[in-house]
Amino acid sequence: MSRTVVVTGSGSGMGAATKRRLENADHKVIGIDIRGAEVNADLGTAQGRQEAIDRTAELSGGSIDAVVTWAGLSGLDKYAGSQLVSVNYFGTVDLLAGLRPLVAKGDDPAVVGISSNSTTCFPGVPMELVDACLDGDEEAARDIGDSLGPLHCYPATKTAVARWVRRNAPTPEWAGAGITLNAVAPGAVETPLLEASRQDPVIGGAVDSFPVPIGRNGRPDELAALVEFLIGPDARFICGSLIFADGGTDALLRADAQPTSM
Ligand code: NAD
Repeated sequence: MSRTVVVTGSGSGMGAATKRRLENADHKVIGIDIRGAEVNADLGTAQGRQEAIDRTAELSGGSIDAVVTWAGLSGLDKYAGSQLVSVNYFGTVDLLAGLRPLVAKGDDPAVVGISSNSTTCFPGVPMELVDACLDGDEEAARDIGDSLGPLHCYPATKTAVARWVRRNAPTPEWAGAGITLNAVAPGAVETPLLEASRQDPVIGGAVDSFPVPIGRNGRPDELAALVEFLIGPDARFICGSLIFADGGTDALLRADAQPTSM
């Protein structure tokens, strides 16, 4: 059955792979990106998010079956910490909140937010930024982001996305409205974002020394396949999960960290 799917960050990397894969399966994809997409908008601003929501409502005809939020920035020095806060966190959760009424009208609706295995594999994630994001005060979170700098902001924004997904998934607004909400935490995947990190003079050396037990980095289409499954008919019982797809890195570094009891 053909579905209408919104994919943010559809112009590059895993977003582009997801769009391609879904279109090959005859789904209608509404891509959102800075440029060159069906909806061109800056998800790093409140105005851009509202434009994206309004334009998506027009293009979808009033209902959406799934949303996948790949748009994001890495922790490189060329970005300000505040930019990461606004794009990675608020560009995900405020967009999802704004699209939720359209998704609630979809068929077997499903949403996948994008986190990262940096949430667990990066030492000392600054929890004050995670908490500020989850409090919903973008200006306060941006100030903390700028004081921390992009490298430390990155895993904090991705931790906040994962927690937002898990907090909201079981609520009446999401599960209660028939929408499954899950998050995916990729490890190192060969995209333009990873290649830019590899070329960085400060953190470049760390990219290929990161331990990946299966012996290679991920391919964008492998993550697209996971997302296709999560928004598809066989995943209706999966709700509120944070799914790592990282070649075994998280398990290698923190085998006993989960599950933990209440
Ligand atoms: P990418 O850089 O190839 O693609 C990201 C896309 O997001 C680009 O098309 C870009 O234009 C878009 N984008 C950035 N800022 C935007 C904004 N303000 N408004 C609208 N669109 C914007 O990256 P990728 O490697 O495919 O990563 C996709 C997602 O997966 C990101 O959220 C990233 O943090 C996450 N991730 C990537 C890796 C990896 O190793 N590649 C690992 C873990 C998580």
